[in-house]
Amino acid sequence: MNKNRVLKVVSAALIGQAAICGTLVIALLPAVAATVCPSCYGLERISATLILDRDMTADLRERIQDDAAKAAARVRAFYGEFPIAPTVLACSTQDCDRWLGGEGALAVAYSLPFFSVIRVSSAGLNETVLAHEFSHIELSRRIGLYRQLTGGLPCWFNEGVAVIVSDDRRYLREGQSPQDRCLEYSAGALPETPFEGAQLGGRKPEIYAQAACRVLKWMDANGGRDGLIGTLDRVGSGFAFVP
Ligand SMILES: [Zn+2]
Repeated sequence: MNKNRVLKVVSAALIGQAAICGTLVIALLPAVAATVCPSCYGLERISATLILDRDMTADLRERIQDDAAKAAARVRAFYGEFPIAPTVLACSTQDCDRWLGGEGALAVAYSLPFFSVIRVSSAGLNETVLAHEFSHIELSRRIGLYRQLTGGLPCWFNEGVAVIVSDDRRYLREGQSPQDRCLEYSAGALPETPFEGAQLGGRKPEIYAQAACRVLKWMDANGGRDGLIGTLDRVGSGFAFVP
């Protein structure tokens, strides 16, 4: 199947989603199409959940499989389960990033009821970035697409949880207490919607540190990890959450 044909088939399949997701669908089309036809994008399927670019070295292929397994284990340990096995589409070159619609983000998670895929750029091939995106997938599964699209959870909260789950040392210190771990606290406004998050995430990476601090503080006052998981499940059931 050539690339245009794949895009047409995928577009037709997603047309119902397009009315809901708007620009999100346009952004995810190459990733969906590349999953349907990896060779159309210079990629090859390594396993049921891993699609890599053909130019990737053997060492890197081995490392990303290892990183993906460790990232999944980390996410499972935090949430208690991680039943979705998202497809990881990983590039090792900037050309590959461009073919898949990458615009500078280290990685992006697309989570729809019938489709979960992580697009990882050449700069994001590590366990931490994969665990961050896997956290988004699991959180999305728990609250559901409807609640996600209708603002059931502020974008900053979702990002803060992903930083904590992945234990991302760019944005968190080592330590036990929220005070020890918090790198940068801000009382100011943080992105509420995915659109605001996408606008600010690349230009203001400090919002990840600020979001993580605020989630740590919230968890400290609301039952820690168990309180967080319970709240996410209640959000999925319609609970109006205002952190
Ligand atoms: Zn994120």
